[in-house]
Amino acid sequence: MQVDVLTANDLKKSAPVFGQFSFDNHEQVVFCNDKDTGLKAIIGIHNSVLGPALGGTRMWNYNSEWDALNDVLRLSRGMTFKSAITGLNLGGGKAVIIGDAKTQKTPALMRKFGEFVHSLSGKYITAEDVGMDTEDMDTVREVTPYVTGISESKGGAGNPSPITAYGVFMGMKAAAKYKYGSDDLEGRKVLVQGIGHVGEALVEHLTNEGADVYISDINIAKLQEVSEQYSVKIYTGDVYDADVDIYAPCALGATINDATVNRIKATIIAGAANNQLADENTHGLILQQKGIVYAPDFLINAGGIINVYAELEGYGKQEIMRKTENIYNTTLEILKTAEAQSITTHVAALKIAQQRIDNRKMENLN
Ligand code: NAD
Repeated sequence: MQVDVLTANDLKKSAPVFGQFSFDNHEQVVFCNDKDTGLKAIIGIHNSVLGPALGGTRMWNYNSEWDALNDVLRLSRGMTFKSAITGLNLGGGKAVIIGDAKTQKTPALMRKFGEFVHSLSGKYITAEDVGMDTEDMDTVREVTPYVTGISESKGGAGNPSPITAYGVFMGMKAAAKYKYGSDDLEGRKVLVQGIGHVGEALVEHLTNEGADVYISDINIAKLQEVSEQYSVKIYTGDVYDADVDIYAPCALGATINDATVNRIKATIIAGAANNQLADENTHGLILQQKGIVYAPDFLINAGGIINVYAELEGYGKQEIMRKTENIYNTTLEILKTAEAQSITTHVAALKIAQQRIDNRKMENLN
């Protein structure tokens, strides 16, 4: 008798979407292709119970299409919980464009992507993410109204990154209050990994507060620029061995993984990157056991979505800042809830977010 042994690749082929390990009952996954502009994009709509699925578009040179698919599935799911816990009437969605943003992004490609977004009639609303900026969203706006994060001169709320950074700063201060008994970050050693749009703005808040800031990035020119501008130190060693109080992941996700989790010496992890835990159960639990306070990423990096939500709801800067500042209170509440219920901070945040979605589902049924 012959026994068929399936390899990982066969499994991927036999269950290409619904069988992906990042698939979590997503409502819709849209593959977009355009030969003329070279566009290859995937739009993931995870959940639209609370409202239209809003989430940024990431342009990245993925190693494989599987990586792109898993990224969009993970990111769109994260958006569902981010909006739910922040109290916004939005669902979770995200898009990825496969390619190098520096060399392959053109206005024609962005317009074509916008046409695909438009074809979903508002079920998915886009915004910027890694590899995108406000001007790209302005280009998308030429072909669809289902886009946020456009320039202030065109009626948008502008670049969301400074607001995201402010929310991360609030979440970090709340974690410090919980862990150290004081939210004053003066003299605290903080390592910011990734000093892009959000990371750099976070560095500014931290230096204003008198924190002892270290920066790390793969972009050497940027490191020089930011270190000179804010008088911060460039960290040259391996980030995961750094002897610091706070580790702020502000580059890409999954940096807390099997290879790194047991090396981290920081007592707080609070950063902007989405999906910091490679495996939210395993790695969240290890952090909890090691006494490392993990401020859930989707909770503390919600400033950007608060900012773009203002474009849909028409509220102003003052309300944006009030909602973003409230990340401090929510974070503190969740850290305490996790302790009281002996669960990880990530699970505590997920539970509260899921509850809000379930409540709305019940309301909709009645
Ligand atoms: P960005 O592209 O402006 O910056 C990312 C930075 O990380 C770049 O400087 C890049 O060189 C650096 N980087 C990439 N790989 C690295 C590595 N291995 N080690 C060190 N540095 C590395 O992106 P951004 O807008 O600042 O977003 C940063 C993170 O925050 C992303 O994960 C994004 O999804 C998340 N986020 C951003 C927003 C927002 O408002 N921009 C909102 C929520 C979440």
